[in-house]
Amino acid sequence: MGQTLIRGGTVVSMDLAVGDLPQGDVLIDGALIRAVGPSLDAPGAEILDAAGFIVIPGLVNAHQHTWQTALRGVAGNWTILEYFHHVHAGLATKFSPEDIYIATLVGALNQINCGTTTLVDWCHNNPTREHTDGAVKGLVESGIRAAFFHGSPKPDPKPGQKPFWEMPHPRNEVERLMKTLPANDGLVTLGLAILGPHYSTYEVAQHDFRLAREFGLIASMHCAGGEARTPDGWDRLAAEGLLGDNNNIVHGQTLTDAQLALMLERGVTFSLTPETEMLQGHGFAITGRLRKLGAQPSLGVDLESGISGDLFTVARVALASQRAFDNAESRATTGKLPDTSTVRCLEALGWITTEGARMLKMEDRLGSLTPGKQADIVMIRANDLNMWPVHDPVASVVMQAGTGNVDTVLIAGQVRKRRGRLVYPKIEQRKHELLASGRRILAELGLH
Ligand SMILES: [Zn+2]
Repeated sequence: MGQTLIRGGTVVSMDLAVGDLPQGDVLIDGALIRAVGPSLDAPGAEILDAAGFIVIPGLVNAHQHTWQTALRGVAGNWTILEYFHHVHAGLATKFSPEDIYIATLVGALNQINCGTTTLVDWCHNNPTREHTDGAVKGLVESGIRAAFFHGSPKPDPKPGQKPFWEMPHPRNEVERLMKTLPANDGLVTLGLAILGPHYSTYEVAQHDFRLAREFGLIASMHCAGGEARTPDGWDRLAAEGLLGDNNNIVHGQTLTDAQLALMLERGVTFSLTPETEMLQGHGFAITGRLRKLGAQPSLGVDLESGISGDLFTVARVALASQRAFDNAESRATTGKLPDTSTVRCLEALGWITTEGARMLKMEDRLGSLTPGKQADIVMIRANDLNMWPVHDPVASVVMQAGTGNVDTVLIAGQVRKRRGRLVYPKIEQRKHELLASGRRILAELGLH
């Protein structure tokens, strides 16, 4: 791969040292960003004209169950408890490996379409290794950068079988995946989507934390939604020294401030999905509680069975809900609004770029337009009717932009979307396969 020069765009780098450029260039050399500057010289480089575009780092979607893509909209009216019943104990059990493949492929392609260049695919519907391989195949084929978080299904217990919350994460599958998935330099990397104490016995949580640490993998887990199986599990894990910077907690509403503070001290990261959390009944996102402790969250879409895959919307909802919360608190305590908005647009853009990279422990490679980092880049059309005129590029991206403005997407220097269209060749065929998959799964449960 040769050099590519993104020329003459408004550059929002998300890197303080690089800064933002009203008009600037990004030089790409192979998979890497070589330079960012006002007027770069690059003889022989392929030119991507960025006049009229805002150039930003590719978005990082820190939490999504991509296997649910064929079920779009079906959970639109379900609370979290209905969702557990209908999806995990019902629809999920009807998925074949082929269903997982097509849903993951199309879901990942849609993420690229929406401006996501790194997807944390939190895959917890893999009862067999063939299901797991189907998901990985879909991610690889899409061309997205992905962290494949290997999880386990949550069906209702059957007679004579152990319930899922008593099943330790399968070591043999982790060993197998460590061999088949490329190491850290590949586009698809491995992590673990474990049950954690909210969804398992203490013994299982302890086992899974140790397993992740032994293999040097991130272990991510849900915390919220329904009653905790092991309410004192977090404190016991902390006392045993098992909480560390390879742990990621999703949602987190049931944690106390003292627990949050201790976890942050140990390097635990938090991924929030404010849109699904509010819609399904987890409660308000803990964004403000983290900010009070000096930390920031990463954000995820969570469920396309519930909401859109557009991460811009998720960030905007997260920003709006936190400001609403802060404004209400200020009114209640001082009788007036804060002097200015409590959360800046720049912070919200950080949640879906730099913070996502940090959650993956890939902040040295992803999250900003920094020389030496991976060339994961999005070009947003600034002269579209819903964007024009742009006075403050960061505010325009956070407050106005959506999937329709994502013109060009590069991942590791490869163009994956150009002039508003995905490069992937067989979209219509894949859409047809996705429809057939979704219809069959719903029909098996008599839901459609
Ligand atoms: Zn989730």
